[in-house]
Amino acid sequence: MEAEATKEILLVALGGNALIGKGQAGEVTEQLDNLKLPIRQIVHLSREYSVIITHGNGPQVGNLLLQQESCEDVPRLPLEILVAQTQGWIGYMIESTLDNELMAQGWDSETYLVSLISYVVVDENDPAFLHPSKPIGPVYSEEKAALLPFPTVKTAKGYRRVVASPRPVTIVEKREIKKLIGQGFIVVCCGGGGIPVVREGRTFNGVDAVIDKDLASAKLAEEVGVDVFIIATDVAGAALNYGQPDERYLRRMSVTEAVSHLAAGHFHPGSMGPKVEAAVEFIRRGGKRAVITSIEAIEQAVKGRAGTEVVRD
Ligand code: ADP
Ligand code: MG
Repeated sequence: MEAEATKEILLVALGGNALIGKGQAGEVTEQLDNLKLPIRQIVHLSREYSVIITHGNGPQVGNLLLQQESCEDVPRLPLEILVAQTQGWIGYMIESTLDNELMAQGWDSETYLVSLISYVVVDENDPAFLHPSKPIGPVYSEEKAALLPFPTVKTAKGYRRVVASPRPVTIVEKREIKKLIGQGFIVVCCGGGGIPVVREGRTFNGVDAVIDKDLASAKLAEEVGVDVFIIATDVAGAALNYGQPDERYLRRMSVTEAVSHLAAGHFHPGSMGPKVEAAVEFIRRGGKRAVITSIEAIEQAVKGRAGTEVVRD
């Protein structure tokens, strides 16, 4: 296996819709089918770049929560274990799709793949723990919600479990990921934003929280020295006045512009907000390029022909 130090490093963060499209039930066959579109592009790009793939896990964790709440016969698993389960589940789906696509594109057996169970350290004093804000899992009626053993929040759809979403402090496996990239592996990691852990002395303990996958990806990108950071989702990029008649998608915005649009509330917290924040943090900390784009346009975005690019001032 050759060292690939000469290639630039590309990180693609795949949004939930790379796996389950709007209106789909989320059958595994659907998820595997949906993955072909981004993975085909990523395989093309892997000729030119060393590649890291991260991914969301919202609907998958939601389904696991619903499954375990529908059954009294086995012990309930804490959230951190469910996140670990989705890393294995989705990591496997991405790996097998990659494998098929590498073969279809005529790659020999010289390309190596690995998916890593990844922990992400959070700060136990993160204010997010005092004000859990991230709704996850199934929707409950008000009556059912009142009987649940965890806090819930009223959302547009109904009551949902609410958990803390602390900021990622560091990716525990950053050295391993860097080494694997250097050796030519395509690495799938930090699924669902990573398994949230706090440091206690020399050990790590899992906590009941979820980490935003875009912010975790930005942290990973900084820590392993990624050159190009692509955030792939179900819209063409970041828009001003999103959903309004005067909505306008941006092709470029400077870090300063992005920060002021964020402050003005153009990018919703919990969806486009963390993507823009992730792109800003990456560029501020010395990253070369950060683009928010659609799943369909990953390759075009890398080439500078699609998406919203956040650029240095
Ligand atoms: P992912 O699963 O890819 O992380 P999210 O649902 O978290 O996807 O974020 C993408 C969504 O962000 C889009 O589907 C869109 O509805 C929403 N969004 C909120 N504000 C904006 C904006 N200003 N421009 C574009 N999309 C926005
Ligand atoms: Mg999201």
